[in-house]
Amino acid sequence: MNYDVVIIGSGPGGYVSAIRCAQLGFKTALIEKYTTLGGTCLNVGCIPSKALLDSSEHYHNAVHVFAEHGLEGEAPRVNLQKMLERKQSVIDTTVGGIQFLMKKNNIDVLTGVGSFVDAHTVGVTSAEGTQQVTAKHFIIATGSKPVELPFAPFDKERIISSTEALQLKEIPKHLIVIGGGVIGLELGSVYQRLGSAVSVVEFADSIIPTMDLSLGKELQRILKKQGMQFYTSTRVEKVERAGEEVLVKALDKKGATVELTGDYCLVAVGRKPYTTGLNAEAVGVQLDDKGRVVVNDQLQTTVPHIYAIGDVVRGAMLAHKAEEEGVLVAEQLAGQKPHIHYDLIPGVVYTWPEVAGVGKTEQQLKEEGRAFKVGSFPMRALGRARASGDIDGLVKILADAQTDEVLGMHIVGARAADLIMEGVVAMEFRASAEDIARISHGHPTYSEAVKEAALDATAKRALHA
Ligand code: FAD
Ligand code: NAD
Repeated sequence: MNYDVVIIGSGPGGYVSAIRCAQLGFKTALIEKYTTLGGTCLNVGCIPSKALLDSSEHYHNAVHVFAEHGLEGEAPRVNLQKMLERKQSVIDTTVGGIQFLMKKNNIDVLTGVGSFVDAHTVGVTSAEGTQQVTAKHFIIATGSKPVELPFAPFDKERIISSTEALQLKEIPKHLIVIGGGVIGLELGSVYQRLGSAVSVVEFADSIIPTMDLSLGKELQRILKKQGMQFYTSTRVEKVERAGEEVLVKALDKKGATVELTGDYCLVAVGRKPYTTGLNAEAVGVQLDDKGRVVVNDQLQTTVPHIYAIGDVVRGAMLAHKAEEEGVLVAEQLAGQKPHIHYDLIPGVVYTWPEVAGVGKTEQQLKEEGRAFKVGSFPMRALGRARASGDIDGLVKILADAQTDEVLGMHIVGARAADLIMEGVVAMEFRASAEDIARISHGHPTYSEAVKEAALDATAKRALHA
């Protein structure tokens, strides 16, 4: 079969790109090695983790929060099997939706491992054999896999990655999490809420160290209050399995030994690009020293008619970043001039409270030597937060010292994942902090904290501080 565009990998990068290609009139095929579409995000990432975060939050609230609202009665028990079945049904419905969208857009879905035969031909190999497809353009969207620590290979039973952590058969008594990044804190939260003791060992001085440092500090304080243990500035040296137990040995920055014994150890120290079996290098596609497919600003690889998008290329490993890149490539192929503002891709952590950030962090602005103003506002000063009991967190806005242009917005608080979009829109239109401050925000809403932080940034004139 001959196509205009063949896309390898059906994650959010690949399937969204396929839809946009089809919308633009290209004859399109999507190759996926698994029988379900949607990639990491839909099958073992964003969607299942959020399903478990929501289920565990309901349980946490029933046990710990309902009583303060005057809701009394026997606390529910956890039926983990049922919780996992619900998670699976959420996945099934979501991946079924992608299958429907492929049909609706006349996209051919080819099941099997895609491997370049030559620069214009890809073989698709499944149990049924190999078929070859040719195309004018290819898009590599093969995603990423969890990073393994050399001294702690995944045994997938007790030393696990996020994939196993999303389908454990029991609630750990003590879950040791290596890596205080997004996965460690989200999945750590799931099990902490379900009753596990959770210890997080983080190499950096702070959890979520790539976000604005004030967020990690605030989140660590809140999660500690919820019962999570933290060992920051601590480097894991050894992980050993002893029967049903896992022993973790680490060194803190003063050289003191930290020894932890748990029944499960989640290793969440990042993800790495995945190109195994693709045979892309053989046709001239270059990889960098981190195994990422090298691309230029147009997402073209070193072979001009082969593009690459999403987790397999440089940049944030986020579903919405992959989607934007998928759209960009399709539109470029159609002769359009799309653009991605990489600075304005929001990052979200779905703990409770949620954490979200966009634009520059305070540490980045300091490094750049740019003069800036800081405005902040605590959630606890909001009527809405007091009504729901979600008083933890803050909104912080960074604005240019001279022009007042918003340069960054960073939030810890209820619904931060949705609130951050006000910052994204403001920054996309190069708004000033005063622009945000002068917009009427519904009352009572959490978004009033954004307005108040903007008032604080623009002229230190928050109304309710
Ligand atoms: P992927 O989703 O990894 O898809 C790649 C696909 O390519 C896979 O289906 C794979 O099977 C297929 N493939 C690979 N090689 C071949 C081949 N040779 N032939 C055929 N098929 C092949 N991001 C967010 O933005 N928000 C979140 O809340 C979030 N939560 C996450 C939670 C967890 C636990 C994890 C692990 C990740 C999470 N992410 C989240 C990250 C998100 O999942 C990724 O950024 C996103 O899936 C990347 O999309 P992609 O299309 O580049 O690759
Ligand atoms: P991450 O990069 O977010 O966090 C990894 C953490 O591990 C870092 O804080 C790092 O300092 C620490 N670390 C690294 N080596 C260590 C060691 N030897 N000992 C102790 N700590 C160590 O990576 P992740 O949490 O594995 O997530 C992978 C990717 O998946 C991320 O890039 C993220 O963007 C994506 N993801 C996103 C979401 C979301 O958007 N909500 C959720 C889950 C995953």
